Amino acid sequence: MKTRLSTGSAAASPVFEDGVEKGRSWATLSETQPPGWGVEGLTFSVSLFFLLWLTFVAGESISAKENTKGSGVPILLYHRFGSVIEDNMTVKTTVFETHLKYLRDSGYTVIPLRLLVNHYLRKGPPIPLRSVVITVDDGHKSVYTDLFPLVKKYYIPTTLFLYSSALSNASYAMTWDQLRELRGVGLFDFQSHTIWHPNFNIEKRRLKPDEYEKFVRMQLMKSKERVEKELDVKVDMLAWPFGIYDDELVRIAAETGYVAAFTMERRQTTSSDHIMKLPRYLMVHTGNNLLPF
Ligand SMILES: [Zn+2]
Repeated sequence: MKTRLSTGSAAASPVFEDGVEKGRSWATLSETQPPGWGVEGLTFSVSLFFLLWLTFVAGESISAKENTKGSGVPILLYHRFGSVIEDNMTVKTTVFETHLKYLRDSGYTVIPLRLLVNHYLRKGPPIPLRSVVITVDDGHKSVYTDLFPLVKKYYIPTTLFLYSSALSNASYAMTWDQLRELRGVGLFDFQSHTIWHPNFNIEKRRLKPDEYEKFVRMQLMKSKERVEKELDVKVDMLAWPFGIYDDELVRIAAETGYVAAFTMERRQTTSSDHIMKLPRYLMVHTGNNLLPF
């Protein structure tokens, strides 16, 4: 209802034909002008690698143009951005931009995560044939400094999964005011990544069963409430911390108001996936390239 990035407003009446949206899409990349290609060797080799990788992961969509049903959708998961690599969860900002340019130039449509989830829940329209989703976990400050300008430049819908205890608190995290500024451009969706990013496997061993369930409920409910209150948005999607989930966690998430949740398994999502276990490709820096394979 309060969600800023949904199928509302500019996306109120997209026209789809054979699963492909016709005309201008708020989410399409095709109308933005590309800046020059990065010239650094690393950037270039990584972007080539990314191209090959994306061709591979999206192969089903590419080779099955007549058959839009059953096509998978890659959900990309980023964490941090920067001009230098400080850890393997940082993707160079220039490399990230080559990803966006490749997606645009190859006819991909970056769609809001909400659109994909509504489609899977049979509450929304079909999605474009060559769809891809961008998500970013944790709420790192480089989302504001590095990602934000590129989101505006390429006009890409982006979902942020936030763990609320860090915001306006940890030096590495964004502030609530910065998040409200992001909200203002209408391209970001804000969802939950729990309160403090616990490892549920460790907590399950540490706590008695009833204490553990109470702990999980608190992590899922309070984070949702905090993000909703601070940003005036609706929160009903969850990124599992460390990708950890099991049947009990899935049950509690559904009971506390979540309609979809996301893991870190490296494959495309399909409509046959469990809605509380949708896979995402973790994008990391691995030395010679940033890609998981
Ligand atoms: Zn995380």
